[in-house]
Amino acid sequence: MTLETIKFLSVIGSFSLLYLSEQLFPYFVSRKHHLRHSLRNVALGLFNVTISLMIVLTLIKGAEHWADIRQFGLLHQLELSTSAGIIIALIIIDLWQYLWHRMNHRIPALWRFHRVHHCDTEMDTSSAVRFHTGEILISGLTRAPLILVFGLSIEHLIIYEIVALPVILFHHSNLRIPTSLDRVLRYIIMTPHMHRLHHSDQQQETDSNYSSLFSIWDRLFYSFQSQPLREDFKLGLGSAYSDSDCNSLGGLLALPFSEKDRTRH
Ligand SMILES: [Zn+2]
Repeated sequence: MTLETIKFLSVIGSFSLLYLSEQLFPYFVSRKHHLRHSLRNVALGLFNVTISLMIVLTLIKGAEHWADIRQFGLLHQLELSTSAGIIIALIIIDLWQYLWHRMNHRIPALWRFHRVHHCDTEMDTSSAVRFHTGEILISGLTRAPLILVFGLSIEHLIIYEIVALPVILFHHSNLRIPTSLDRVLRYIIMTPHMHRLHHSDQQQETDSNYSSLFSIWDRLFYSFQSQPLREDFKLGLGSAYSDSDCNSLGGLLALPFSEKDRTRH
């Protein structure tokens, strides 16, 4: 079985399992337009996968080939065993994901795209694939220099995705898990409770809990937050964003070019 097949099975398997589980044990109950919400997010996600395969993958393969024939980059120089190389690659990629996510909140031009992900007011497993195509392209392009500098391979990226994507689907899900279990899991990975705070309509909470896979980065860089600031916790970006901005495909694709929310950053 190829790594691509394992990645495909891991994403489809974890998505299906989480999507079914969150119907049976939901954290937020009595949600409206549940199916329409999921279909819209998945449609955007599938479109982004197509664009990534066409543009980003070509660039990344070019960067990998360039670094490989010149033995350029940290991992080529260290001459590690395969398993040690994979572990270091996972740490490097996950740290980059943390820093890149934080930049998406700090740099206004990036936030314009990233707010498409954050204006979702009904988070569930499908929210994990709800990103503006512009963000996917820019984020994909930043991986080329990462591959060059650290001598990473396509296989390293795929292995990272096999491990990280189920966790990312999990922490976006609307699955109600015991608080005690969440408290234990958050020592290692980003959990639903931690990531829900990152999707709060309060900026102080949104500017916390940026990790994708390993939660250690938020603890190391002082961005960890464990409890909501208010009792009436809400998801989304507040009243400045209308239903048509955040709950239609056209509105989502146009959102980066709107002047809303400029006071937020
Ligand atoms: Zn974010």
